[in-house]
Formats: sequence, C-alpha cells, structure tokens
Amino acid sequence: MKKHPVVLIPGDGIGPEVTVAVQRVLAEAGAPIEWVPCRAGLAALEAGQDVLPQETLDAIERHRFALKGPCTTPVGEGFTSVNVQLRKRLTLYAAVRPVRNLAGVQTRFDGVDLVIIRENTEGLYSGVENQVTDDVVMSMKVATQTAVNRIAHWSFRFATRRRRRKITVFHKANIMKMTDGLFLRAARKVHQYEYPNIEYQEMIIDAGCMKLVQDPTQFDVLLLENLYGDVVSDLCAGLVGGLGVVPGANYGDRHAVFEAVHGSAPDIAGKGVANPLALLMSAVMMLNHMADELGDDGLLQCAERIKGGYNRALQDGEKTRDLGGTLGTEAFADAVISRLG
Ligand code: NAD
Repeated sequence: MKKHPVVLIPGDGIGPEVTVAVQRVLAEAGAPIEWVPCRAGLAALEAGQDVLPQETLDAIERHRFALKGPCTTPVGEGFTSVNVQLRKRLTLYAAVRPVRNLAGVQTRFDGVDLVIIRENTEGLYSGVENQVTDDVVMSMKVATQTAVNRIAHWSFRFATRRRRRKITVFHKANIMKMTDGLFLRAARKVHQYEYPNIEYQEMIIDAGCMKLVQDPTQFDVLLLENLYGDVVSDLCAGLVGGLGVVPGANYGDRHAVFEAVHGSAPDIAGKGVANPLALLMSAVMMLNHMADELGDDGLLQCAERIKGGYNRALQDGEKTRDLGGTLGTEAFADAVISRLG
C-alpha cells in the first residue's frame, strides 16, 4: 500500500503526549501515512533552532499536509506565536473547527452541530504594535480586501459543498466600521451575487455570544474574523464537552495543517491525563481531506474506522478526566484501538 508523507509537529506541553497516542491509533487503524517529524515552538528553541525553523516550513511546503500539536506562546513578552506565524507564512487562511455533540458525552445542550470558520491571517493578529508615547501603546487591526474576499468565497463554497444551510457572520461593525465593515460587506456581496442558495445572517458578536449560550442549535456555520474566531471557538468547545473534543484544520489553497483547538495545557502537561481525542479527531479530518485531494479511498476507510472506534469508546463510558471519566491519555487510546472494528 502506498504511504503518504505527512509532517508531524508534536509541539509543547501536552503536545508530545497526545501526539504519541494519536500516532498509535493511526498505526493500529492501518493509516497509509509516513510521518515526517519536524520541530516548532519551545522544542525547536531547546534544540538550538528558530522557534519556527525554515526546514519545518519547507517540509510542509513539500509534503502539503501536517498534523500539529499545540505550541506554547509566552504571555505579554517574548517571541511571536508560532501558530500565528505558521498560518501566515503558509497562507493557511481558513481555520475550520467543527463543534458537535458526541454520543456518551453529556452536556447542557443536545443537537449542537456547528462549524466555525475563522479568518486566520489578519485582524488584530497582525502583530503590529507600537509604543506611541510613554503612556500609550497601540495594536493595529488589519483587514484587506484580498483576505476578506478570500475567506468569504471559501466559506460559502465550503457551506455549499458540505450541504450546510446557513452562514452567520459575527462582527462588531457598529464600532469598527472600517475593518469589520469590510469583512461584512465582502460576505454580504458573495452571498448576494454568488451563493443565494445559502441562508445568510449577520449578528453583532456580543448578542451572538448570548444567543450561542442560550441555544447553540439555532446556528449552523459561523464566519468570524481572526480574534473573534479564536474566542468563540473555545466558547463553543465548552458547549459540547470542552477543549478535549474539538478538532481543527487550517486550510490554504495548497497546504493544510491539522491541529486541535486547545493549547499546550501546561497545568496538566507531563501527567499523562490529557485527552488525545481532539487531536485524534483532527487527524480524522486530515485523513478525509487527504482522501479528497489524493483520491485514495484507503485514507477514507481508515478515517471511518477511527471515528467508529472513538464513538464506541465514548458510548461505552471510556473517557478521560476532562469528560468525567478516569482514563489517562494512553488508556483512552487503548480503548479506541480495541474498538476499531
Ligand atoms: P489551553 O487550551 O492549553 O488550556 C485551557 C484549559 O483546558 C486548561 O485547564 C487545560 O488543562 C485544559 N485542556 C486543554 N486541552 C486539554 C486536553 N486535551 N485534555 C484535557 N484538558 C485540556 O489554553 P491556555 O492554558 O490558555 O494556553 C496554554 C498555552 O497554549 C499558551 O502558551 C497558548 O499560547 C498556547 N496555545 C496554543 C494553541 C495552538 O498551538 N494552536 C492554541 C491555544 C493556546
């Protein structure tokens, strides 16, 4: 069976633990994958490399697909986020985070089936900050016509292909009339002239957040600029069981990097208790995407086996602590492996 190369970045904190568990499940499921290990984040710094080594970028350029663990970013000082750099350098402009209830994971709401699409390259993540005077610092929010058009087109095309019914844009264009205004006008125009098949809705983000926590089932696809997408992703994770169950993908026109929504969780790193499911679900997204791109049904079948395995494990009550269970990272991986079918 032909094996496809995939760049693997274990990352920091709980990253290496959950990555090893995910690699084990994929191997047992017979995934036709050949891992190309690369470093980024603190692991790269400790090995005497740049925080985002050029050879890691080159490897993703060459192989097109990567699975990535979380990378730590110092708060209030130090280097620019590796995650943000990676998305910008490879123009991975669309972050996609499916948020769904999982059978066996009890939460406040049933029937949650949301997809968050986050613009991944600009907004307040421009990284342009200035000390203006001794008293004043500024952070620049950037919106370009190119990027807002690109994400609007991508989102409506995605919604159409995946047979989703509605896109809701969360914005603050009442205050940020130029930047959020540009974002909103692009989405409105693409809907009106190219995709009237998809229902379209705009909502000021504060009211949108209230409606999300009152009844998330009223939403289908959420389209947000960078910072709003970041914040709302974690909020939505909380609706379906937490950060341990929400996967993610960062898509560009040619490359895709798959990673969970969660970070490096320093509070539980090294304890063997992290939930590997979010990264495992990200790997399933990756296998499905690679199957589409490469036309290899073996990848698709493998994705189905893994999905069946983790669904059966959860239904049997096999859960990590964040979901109210008692299993550690490796024990949960074992529970999935023994149910691959
Ligand atoms: P976090 O997502 O790492 O953790 C938030 C909370 O969720 C913690 O209590 C943690 O224990 C828990 N949690 C997260 N993932 C879990 C899992 N798989 N299983 C069980 N519990 C889990 O967020 P944070 O603490 O705000 O950030 C820590 C670091 O991660 C920061 O340096 C931040 O910059 C970085 N970060 C990286 C990414 C990424 O690499 N894409 C994303 C978010 C945050």
